[in-house]
Amino acid sequence: MSKLFEPFSIKEITLRNRIAVSPMCQYCSNDGLPNDWHLVHLGSRAVGGAGMVMVEATAVSPDGRISPADSGIYTDQHVEPFTKITKFLKEHGAVAGIQIAHAGRKASVRKPWEGDDSIDAGQDGWDTIAPSAIAFGGTIPKIPKEMTATDIKRVQTDFVDSARRALAAGFDFLELHFAHGYLASEFYSPLSNKRTDKYGGSFDNRIRFLLETFKAVREVWPERFPLTARVSVTDWIEGGVTIEESIELTRLLKDAGLDMLDVSHGFVLPDVSAIPWGPGMMLPYAERIRKEAEIPTTTSWMITEPQQAEDAVANGQVDVVMLGRELLRDPYWPFHAAKSLGAGAAEDLLPVQYARAVTK
Ligand code: NDP
Repeated sequence: MSKLFEPFSIKEITLRNRIAVSPMCQYCSNDGLPNDWHLVHLGSRAVGGAGMVMVEATAVSPDGRISPADSGIYTDQHVEPFTKITKFLKEHGAVAGIQIAHAGRKASVRKPWEGDDSIDAGQDGWDTIAPSAIAFGGTIPKIPKEMTATDIKRVQTDFVDSARRALAAGFDFLELHFAHGYLASEFYSPLSNKRTDKYGGSFDNRIRFLLETFKAVREVWPERFPLTARVSVTDWIEGGVTIEESIELTRLLKDAGLDMLDVSHGFVLPDVSAIPWGPGMMLPYAERIRKEAEIPTTTSWMITEPQQAEDAVANGQVDVVMLGRELLRDPYWPFHAAKSLGAGAAEDLLPVQYARAVTK
């Protein structure tokens, strides 16, 4: 019996299997609004059988977008187009998830296929903010403004308002993006946070922005729905965030109502040579956090093969696998994986319009 294809219940929702679509930026929104591309892109993965489909990193404010073409959920006008998407995802058996985010000092850059580099304010770009006035470097030399206490409060309120809108749009799984060197991750990492106030210095101070933001969102996000966070659990660099710190952070977030940790890594500095690229590279970290913080986990990163995903769940490394690029290559990966693992009636994952035809 396949573990990958066992349903997974968390709070009051149930994923039909343990396969989730990792949030992947599409860089094709106008003023943050999702459009037909998002409906087809996300809808295809629901039709392909994923248990959950998570919308890309979606900005909580215009200055929190990575690029001018990022999706956002920063006005009430964003709710209706997202509603169209959540309705379709649910109609096709997937849980509708969304990741909300602020890009901090890595905001205001060109789309990856146009250079991924800083765009100046006034040229379709904007001034950026961060815990400290230190540039990311590499292709993003722009120096951000150090956030004041008022800026911090404003962004936290933006997260709360965005969570309310996500709920109104019909999402029933919310993830806070605390990873990849974006704003929250910049507060967490001593490599990007050089503050001397209560938001910088000690571990307790560096995690203050994350914990406060999480708690504020939990107050408006219903208890019946899961609230998760994606955390870069290691920076891979001496003097950066460590896995031991991240286990402690996870425990504190869990006490505040975290339902699952999405385990990720790095990207707080450019060109880090120590990243151990390889299949399932984050699975041992997800396993350790799952055991030591006693919380469900998920992770992405080079999970591509059905048996690999099956083993990750069966061996207790994660509760859910997230696939990114592999689900771009093959939106029907869950269907194909069910067939190759001999996991019951794979056709049940497909909509009736397809199932009757492919079984003939
Ligand atoms: P993959 O298993 O496809 O891993 C791909 C990543 O590893 C890419 O960053 C790739 O770089 C890098 N990589 C692989 N091998 C090497 C190597 N030898 N040296 C240097 N870099 C290497 O990852 P997933 O598809 O599981 O996705 C991983 C994460 O990325 C997830 O968090 C997902 O949400 C996110 N993602 C975001 C996308 C987006 O926002 N558009 C698209 C896809 C994933 P490179 O990028 O240069 O190929």
